[in-house]
Amino acid sequence: MDEKRAVARPHRVEVAIAGGGLTGLALAAALGRAGTCLALVEQAPLASLVEPEYDGRVTAVARGSQRFLASLGAWPAIAPEAEPILEIVVREAGSPVGVHYDHREVGNEPLGWIVPNRTLRLALQTTIADLTDLDLFTPARIVAAETGTGGLRLELADGRAIETALLAVCEGRLSPTRELLGIGDRRFDYRQLAIVCTLRHERPHRGRAVERFFPDGPFAILPMRGRRSSIVWALEAEKAAAVRALDDRAFAAEVEERFGDLLGGIEIEGPRFYFPLVLVESERITAPRVALVGDAARGIHPIAGQGWNLALRDVAALAEVVEERLRLGLDPGDASALDRYAAWRSFDGLALVSICHGIERLFSNDVGPLKLLRNLGLGLVERLPPAKRFFMRHAMGLVGELPRSMRSARSA
Ligand SMILES: Cc1cc2nc3c(=O)[nH]c(=O)nc-3n(C[C@H](O)[C@H](O)[C@H](O)COP(=O)(O)OP(=O)(O)OC[C@H]3O[C@@H](n4cnc5c(N)ncnc54)[C@H](O)[C@@H]3O)c2cc1C
Repeated sequence: MDEKRAVARPHRVEVAIAGGGLTGLALAAALGRAGTCLALVEQAPLASLVEPEYDGRVTAVARGSQRFLASLGAWPAIAPEAEPILEIVVREAGSPVGVHYDHREVGNEPLGWIVPNRTLRLALQTTIADLTDLDLFTPARIVAAETGTGGLRLELADGRAIETALLAVCEGRLSPTRELLGIGDRRFDYRQLAIVCTLRHERPHRGRAVERFFPDGPFAILPMRGRRSSIVWALEAEKAAAVRALDDRAFAAEVEERFGDLLGGIEIEGPRFYFPLVLVESERITAPRVALVGDAARGIHPIAGQGWNLALRDVAALAEVVEERLRLGLDPGDASALDRYAAWRSFDGLALVSICHGIERLFSNDVGPLKLLRNLGLGLVERLPPAKRFFMRHAMGLVGELPRSMRSARSA
């Protein structure tokens, strides 16, 4: 991606996006395709964000999100690295009761796809590289924001300035610009570290994702292309520190201890990555001429693999609101545009915060009555086909008031 397009003059745009992570890139791609005049402010050089050492995670991309990525024209570049999820098995460690989701119960398409984050970033960076009405400010960050009559004036640390009708903040859960704007947040520290790495294994995974709940945190194994899988192992911080000190061979033995030998012999591929897990929920998702999007609006526990899927629903909704306003010659950042965005996105965000936090709290303990309750719950979902189908469709991102770009498969 050509970063020389960064401009040196004060600049007027329709939408400024702060943060060029997965959410900011997707928003730039969506708005850019509709012809919106954009600025993207990212603190790191974009090339550094696609270095293999930057982020070793994979993302479970739900069906609705896949449709959206296809509508952006990004899916053809993602598809070769995307492994279809055909089954999901959820179980509490040591219990025979569990839920088994099979894609055939809801049609012929996969339940979702597992995609390396690097592939998603590369595809989205390539998509935005073609936009003619996008100015990149990178590496750069916002140090002041002032509301005027027709817009917001943003000052960057290097002295440059941007004037915009709308600022979309996509800086992740610890967004400095959100703080600068005086928008407070609520936090809950899970005191867990998510350990992420890629495994090579002897036997094929057959498109099966497995999640096991342990009292010290959930453990997920996610199918990747070939005989490879990614693990996301959330573990109490103290234990995680001990696991972190293990060499690859001892670490692989620990993984086998948790997961068993379903996939045959395993080997660790590449480095391990570590993510402290903190729930951060912004106290509101809009302010005058500002919309918070993705993790900047709320960063949830990865227990259900829903954070970025939720973020993409923000992105698609905000893009739809902005496009409509601009098409009608209206201000894309005025109060009625922002009210529409807040009304559309607040419930989904709140629901996912509560569901993911609730599941994490319910399962990450060894309390007898809660153990009984969760086994009852899992057993009930398994035996009630309508409930099961609802949860499957929810996880596939096909429930609620969906933006147009997520409703039907528009391929690029
Ligand atoms: C272990 C783990 C596994 C996960 N698995 C899944 C999954 O399977 N499915 C799923 O849907 N979600 C998953 N998630 C959640 C998902 O990763 C996040 O929702 C997603 O990465 C959020 O992207 P974002 O762009 O909003 O924020 P971030 O990824 O935090 O990106 C923020 C960007 O803003 C930039 N930035 C920050 N501050 C500034 C500033 N002041 N100025 C300019 N730029 C700035 C940063 O450099 C960065 O590029 C997982 C999360 C974790 C931790």
